[in-house]
Amino acid sequence: MLLEPRLVKLTTRTGIEIRRTLPNAKKRTIGAWCFVDHFGPTLERESMVVAAHPHTGLQTATWLFSGSVEHRDSIGTVQAINPGQLNLMTAGFGISHSELSSETANDLHAVQLWIALPDSVRKMKPTFQHVERVPSFEVAQLKVKLFAGTLLGHESQATIYSEIIGAELQLAAGARGRLPMDSAFEHGVLVVQGAAKVYDELVELGNMAYLPKGPTELVIESVGDEPLVVIFLGGEPFEEEIVMWWNFIARSHDEIVAAREQWNQRDIRFGEFEDRIGGWIPAPELPNITLRSRKDS
Ligand code: MN
Repeated sequence: MLLEPRLVKLTTRTGIEIRRTLPNAKKRTIGAWCFVDHFGPTLERESMVVAAHPHTGLQTATWLFSGSVEHRDSIGTVQAINPGQLNLMTAGFGISHSELSSETANDLHAVQLWIALPDSVRKMKPTFQHVERVPSFEVAQLKVKLFAGTLLGHESQATIYSEIIGAELQLAAGARGRLPMDSAFEHGVLVVQGAAKVYDELVELGNMAYLPKGPTELVIESVGDEPLVVIFLGGEPFEEEIVMWWNFIARSHDEIVAAREQWNQRDIRFGEFEDRIGGWIPAPELPNITLRSRKDS
């Protein structure tokens, strides 16, 4: 199954539109991965200028192919991220953060991913982890950078609370690669450069192939003139019914209403910090319906 992105303008000051493949009407989550935004590549200035905004119940995982972004948050973190590194923010009960692309390294190309936290930890104290170097290795022509989970004896240092995998895969133009897969996981393959054949399905730039659980091996081919780069995600199907709205993940409409009000009233729940952007992003009006957990169509 092919998941196509929708174009989203993140904020009024963010210079670019981003491509969002998750959540998708056809598929809400892949394992605990519940949100996939693809930025760039772009040379535009102010490509990512996202003022202070809150999160609950999730982890944000930021991964760059080029460029540089500064993260700041309400637990005191100030952390630049560069390609090959992982910024992992665990919102837990509540955190706020901002993101600002570098003015000097303005060739931004990145993904931002969200991971739903299981109920047992979703109200934990917020934390932040910067992973300076992730396991990097080659297998059957594929160059792998493993930012979450375990693969072929390698293990990412990222602290994750469910069984998932996340990696960047590179493949030379015209090459074919194979990668072992956990048959208990469903997977997604997002093309961020070039074009791929995943088994026999053509997956063009910006699209994601969805693979239900079952297979034990990924077969992927680079079919364009340029090297292929994909984000490979997987996990045990996430069975909890989550309610996602704006930047919050909860389990009920009422929890979302409370989080929204607390943020807009600048409640201590989401802390405070200073950055070079200034200001904060208010939560929009709620739709005039009861928010519910949404199923795949
Ligand atoms: Mn955010």
